[in-house]
Amino acid sequence: MEIRELDWYQDFSCIGGDCPQTCCRGWIIPLTPEDIERLQSEHGTLGLRIFAAAGGWTRDNFNQRSRQCPFWNREGLCELQLKKGHAFIPDACQSYPRFYRNYGIFEQRTLDLSCVQAARMFTQHAGQISFHSAEGEPATILCSTNDDTEFLNDLIKVRDEMIGELVDICDLANSDGNDDEKEAGSEQRSELKPMDFLSSLDTLLARMFDFARDAQSASLGQDPDFTFRFPEAPHQIDNAFFPLSRVTLRKLLDSSLYHPNLAFSNPKLYELIQDAFHYIDSLPKHGIADTKPANEAGTSKQESVHPVRKIDHWVTDAESFLFRHPETMQLYTGYLTYYLHQYFLRIYETYSYRRQVALGIIHLNLLFLLDATYEKKHGSLSLEEFAEILAVYNRRAYFSDKIQDELYRIFEDAMI
Ligand code: SF4
Repeated sequence: MEIRELDWYQDFSCIGGDCPQTCCRGWIIPLTPEDIERLQSEHGTLGLRIFAAAGGWTRDNFNQRSRQCPFWNREGLCELQLKKGHAFIPDACQSYPRFYRNYGIFEQRTLDLSCVQAARMFTQHAGQISFHSAEGEPATILCSTNDDTEFLNDLIKVRDEMIGELVDICDLANSDGNDDEKEAGSEQRSELKPMDFLSSLDTLLARMFDFARDAQSASLGQDPDFTFRFPEAPHQIDNAFFPLSRVTLRKLLDSSLYHPNLAFSNPKLYELIQDAFHYIDSLPKHGIADTKPANEAGTSKQESVHPVRKIDHWVTDAESFLFRHPETMQLYTGYLTYYLHQYFLRIYETYSYRRQVALGIIHLNLLFLLDATYEKKHGSLSLEEFAEILAVYNRRAYFSDKIQDELYRIFEDAMI
């Protein structure tokens, strides 16, 4: 079978005890029947500890309360692995953060960004997320019963068009022009860049959601004239997609994404969300448009700014954040590109166009809010900090259908 592998997939190596956000905390660890058979064969003190960790074998998992794995030791290492080797630990721990999807005609391999080290690697490669192909044995079974390869190829074509445009935005955000131009108008150019970035990304996300809406209707037989292609312009711009309004962001944060138990299972994210709540709640209730005419709202290019942006103080802060950290623009387009590679083809399995595209938009916006809030509080945002925020966010937001369903419902309500 063709194996499509992320170019830096093989470079991954776990940093073990040096990891600032170990995956041995905050997860329920599922055990396969093969894991259980292997683990049950262990006797002595270690066998007793395994027996206790699995609730006397009343459960097929470890760490049911998502706190700290009972085999995680003071040096931040796995005692099962230290004593018995890598092949002995549960399958989920052996493969993490490797992420496989077997579509029948090819298997795609990526690294999941909920791992801090994978997220660090992402920050180094965000401007060029590419794959190479080779023949090989798939690591996993089919992820779908769908065998309509024409549909799969249509999805890949549209996905790659979206990614191509994200790369264009990324290039635009990074184009500095020649040095003479920079000397002549450096202030004006750098002021314009974040705004252009927001505007371009907002329009692209609107088109992505338009595609999803149209394709969803067509899949339900409501649009016989639908042609499977990425629209060149949004149908109409009634809502802001990037950044989402602070009202929508507040509702998204106040979903199951946030839970008091996070203080134990994912304390870094717990603090980030609390800070984001405080930040949003501290914003003036009245928008800029309520107090100033639009042409005095602090920008020189108001015509290109989405109407919702003019009345949201959060958007002004978002622009300022990008102005101070222009390097993050490439990280955000890269983040969405990565999402599309990893998750867009779920549509092949579920036909949930709207949900799949909406979740990409939601995750991008929430990560952006957490970064901007963090930077406002600490006065800096290094690549290392960006990677850590990304990892703890993805760890919470990507692996629960309940959380994702709720986020999606809030987003859809906001789009009405
Ligand atoms: S999160 Fe990644 S780097 Fe950290 S311990 Fe787990 S696999 Fe290793």
